[in-house]
Amino acid sequence: MSSIETEVVTVDPEAADAGVIERAADLIRAGDLVAFPTETVYGLGANALLPEAVAAIFEAKGRPSFNPLIVHVADVDEAKKIVAVWPPEAEILARAFWPGPLSIVLPRRSVVPDAVTGGRSTVAVRVPANPVALALLRASGVPVAAPSANRSEQLSPTTASHVLAGLSGLIPFILDGGPTAAGIESTVIAITGAEVRLLRPGPISRDEIGVLIGQTVHLPDGKPQDVHSEFASPGQMLRHYAPRAKLSISHHPEAEVEKLLSFGERVGRLSYAKHANADLHGLTVITMPHEPNNYAAALYARLHELDSLGVTRIVVDAPPTDERWLAIWDRLTRAST
Ligand code: AMP
Ligand code: MG
Repeated sequence: MSSIETEVVTVDPEAADAGVIERAADLIRAGDLVAFPTETVYGLGANALLPEAVAAIFEAKGRPSFNPLIVHVADVDEAKKIVAVWPPEAEILARAFWPGPLSIVLPRRSVVPDAVTGGRSTVAVRVPANPVALALLRASGVPVAAPSANRSEQLSPTTASHVLAGLSGLIPFILDGGPTAAGIESTVIAITGAEVRLLRPGPISRDEIGVLIGQTVHLPDGKPQDVHSEFASPGQMLRHYAPRAKLSISHHPEAEVEKLLSFGERVGRLSYAKHANADLHGLTVITMPHEPNNYAAALYARLHELDSLGVTRIVVDAPPTDERWLAIWDRLTRAST
């Protein structure tokens, strides 16, 4: 792939410049790629109805083609144009959480190309809660397939400069709407069989969903998933969301940090507790928020920061284990394997 010029244009999320949004929408309609902010992370968007445009996402990211994309739409009516059924659970959840960080996997209509879904009969859809994203979706008038705007298996971007660091020269246009709010990827659920299943934990919890629909949201079965199985959530088995430095989750971070320093490693620590060894040579300590949503909002930005400082190892204090921390455990575990 030859290098192209990547343009970064700042937009005020409170008052997005219509001319800038129109330019981005033109690019999307024409089959080009545009990176844009959502409330979770920055997305790399393409017209979901054009197979070649969708293929360009996989090429820019170096993403395996079996890993399906989430399609972003402006509202429920647009969602119904790409899904074949709209069950009552979807209606309830969309009313409660859209715009918002909940992706719903449903049977797809044939207008959705195989390139989007990895050939599956289902498609993931959501309405993002970010004014720049919504303005872009409304102006383009087409559904927009958008995974996170990073090279495959690298950390997801929560700022436009993270996007530029990973994809400069590979994509034409980045809308810079400032840092994203939630900081981790959307919750993904499937309403395709007899039961509602959680495919990826995220900002909206299993409990919040279950209470509304009056049924238990089942966890994926925990067995290794077959990537070719119709019901697996393919991207979930990849090493993912990972910083460059080797990351470990530690129940005894003080001792682990001291051991690594004695081996000459440069260490970054995401501290959850009050820390004693902040002043040791070769160590950078970042204190993380104690509330899971705030922790999630900060996580990738802090990992990007440690990577750019050139640390060789990252030690993360093990966070609490209650269900509110499920999505954070998921991302940390993936970053450490
Ligand atoms: P990303 O675009 O990196 O946020 O990842 C999207 C993830 O959503 C995929 O890796 C899958 O885990 C899940 N997903 C998207 N579409 C589907 C689908 N049709 N069936 C099952 N899982 C899906
Ligand atoms: Mg991703």
